[in-house]
Amino acid sequence: MTPLGLQFKLDDVPEDPRAFQGEIAADALDEVITGLLGDLGYTARGPVQVTGSVYRSKRDLFVEAEVQVQVGYGCVRCLDPLSLTLKRRVRHLLVPGARDDGKSAIELAEDEVTGDDDLDHYDGERIDLVPLLREDILLELPMNPTCEEATAGRCARFEAVFESPAPEEDAAPVDPRWAPLLELKKKLN
Ligand SMILES: [Zn+2]
Repeated sequence: MTPLGLQFKLDDVPEDPRAFQGEIAADALDEVITGLLGDLGYTARGPVQVTGSVYRSKRDLFVEAEVQVQVGYGCVRCLDPLSLTLKRRVRHLLVPGARDDGKSAIELAEDEVTGDDDLDHYDGERIDLVPLLREDILLELPMNPTCEEATAGRCARFEAVFESPAPEEDAAPVDPRWAPLLELKKKLN
């Protein structure tokens, strides 16, 4: 069976899992992530790649998706322009109707299991995964991203300016891990 797109009709979804795939345009992601960090911003560096599968039980839809996108941002410590790749697997249970409607049996069961109300809703026969997956990405982006999110390393420039050890008299810079030993040596002298 050919994969579905990110928008489909209830009738397109079988009871056995059916694949879907697609892209969320960079512009469409920017609509929700721009402004998250003020001027430092988050901006999509390309479309969000989405693959996943969906199956149906009566009118409840079980969605599992993997989203991947590269976003640019400015380090909140040193302002360096950076980018990070976000890759996440997400799950959603979609039930028909508006959020404030009475709960279906499966909703009540889900509430009992998870103790929360973490369900999504769709209106009518047409399902659009884009707003849902966009929200997932928004929630997964770090709120105070630094160099570490981009490189898995330290924030080099920040440390150079604020955290460099005081220079020893006439000595080359010393690895800060040796500082306690140097102190001891001074005392013994
Ligand atoms: Zn930095």
